Amino acid sequence: MSNEIRVRFAPSPTGYLHIGGARTALFNYLYTRHLKGVFVLRIEDTDRSRSTDEFIEAIIESMKWLGLEWDEGPFRQTDRFDVYRKYVDKLLSEGKAYYCYCAPEELEERRKEAIAKGLPPKYDGRCRKLQGGHGSGGAAVRFKMPEEGETIVDDLIRGKVVFENSQLDDLIIMRSDGTPTYNFTVVVDDVDMNITHVIRGDDHLNNTPKQIHIYRALGYEIPLFAHLPMILGSDKTRLSKRHGATSVTAYKDMGYLPEAIINYLARLGWSHGDQEVFTKDELIEKFSFEHIGKSAAVFNPEKLLWLNSHYIINTPSERLAELVVPYLINEKIIKEGESLDKQWLSQAIGTLKERSKTLVELASSLRYYIAEDIQYDEKAKAKFLNEKAVSYLRELSESLISITDFSAHELERIFKTIVETQGIKLGELAQPVRVAMTGGTTSPGIFEVLEIMGREKVLKRLEKAIGSG
Ligand code: GLU
Repeated sequence: MSNEIRVRFAPSPTGYLHIGGARTALFNYLYTRHLKGVFVLRIEDTDRSRSTDEFIEAIIESMKWLGLEWDEGPFRQTDRFDVYRKYVDKLLSEGKAYYCYCAPEELEERRKEAIAKGLPPKYDGRCRKLQGGHGSGGAAVRFKMPEEGETIVDDLIRGKVVFENSQLDDLIIMRSDGTPTYNFTVVVDDVDMNITHVIRGDDHLNNTPKQIHIYRALGYEIPLFAHLPMILGSDKTRLSKRHGATSVTAYKDMGYLPEAIINYLARLGWSHGDQEVFTKDELIEKFSFEHIGKSAAVFNPEKLLWLNSHYIINTPSERLAELVVPYLINEKIIKEGESLDKQWLSQAIGTLKERSKTLVELASSLRYYIAEDIQYDEKAKAKFLNEKAVSYLRELSESLISITDFSAHELERIFKTIVETQGIKLGELAQPVRVAMTGGTTSPGIFEVLEIMGREKVLKRLEKAIGSG
């Protein structure tokens, strides 16, 4: 028997890849890469009414975007119904499962009665006592849980967690329409795919004792379990849409870099001293279960934004020039298919990346460099494009026509000459120029901005400002 580590990420495609799901995928990935094991991707789509192909695609897309490459799969449970059927038949023939003929309305009735009597609302075992039965007439199949004793889940993060078997329901493993259910398919697949470590959210911890009994009934070795602590919103309730964006797709659309998300998610429940910034390779090297916290982690969007800004600053401008293009299209700053000079765009980005926390912010700050025209912020215009300022702009415009070297250095010299001859402060010229160029009052250093914009655009914008003053 090989001692290769095999893990899996098993999303249900009933929505986009959730931040919590992405963290589960990441911890599986880091663990298996650290130990040079195998990462399996399995799509748990047996709930046909809620699973869609669109969500499958979106999950796969998000996994790829995050760089969480898998080694095997994606497998789809709906392609494996005959496998599950085979195992159901095996359990039936060995008397470890039985047909259940109870109608849903009856079950509901009995459930209510049990609750009214203060009993646990579990299946009362009526059909368990029947002998034989061939499953005709829309019967479901239930698994025979032990009725006494306890089951211990020896979790790699939580330690030993004890469950009373009397609390475990004879769960349905195959519905009356012939479709198998989660707790059963997950065991069959984890066995079939030789999974050694089941790493998942602790919302599944209560399912684990049930699954352990199914492993035992099938005669298979039980894998190791690691249940990851929950992710909460700032109000300490489970992270959900109420807390804002929760899908990886939404963060991508908001202009986050995958590196920032990976780094952030890694620290959500795991730590390595007080280090906050990690490359993916560093994470792979340092990851272990030992430093996963036992308590829930609180999702902090400000910290994620801070990390994103860190990664934007530290990503080469040439790379950002590629990454920003879809956002420029989205913001309608360029048209689909339109291309910009890469070197020029990188230079423009170089002036903006320190002040852009997301790619969306970066794209929208690039607007004044790229667009043909700009709109003035009304307040900025009223304050800075006055009669006096216009006269300075006119003077500047005249000096710029003739200079041969349109560089930040040369532009600075020209500004100085005007400021000196007029006896004004630099700001009295620079602020009106800034409004004329960008429409607003904040921008990177004005000489750099002018150099990047180029003479033609600068003269055109000065002319417009002079005309509107
Ligand atoms: N399909 C389950 C879910 O998305 C995961 C099951 C598991 O990891 O065992 O919650």
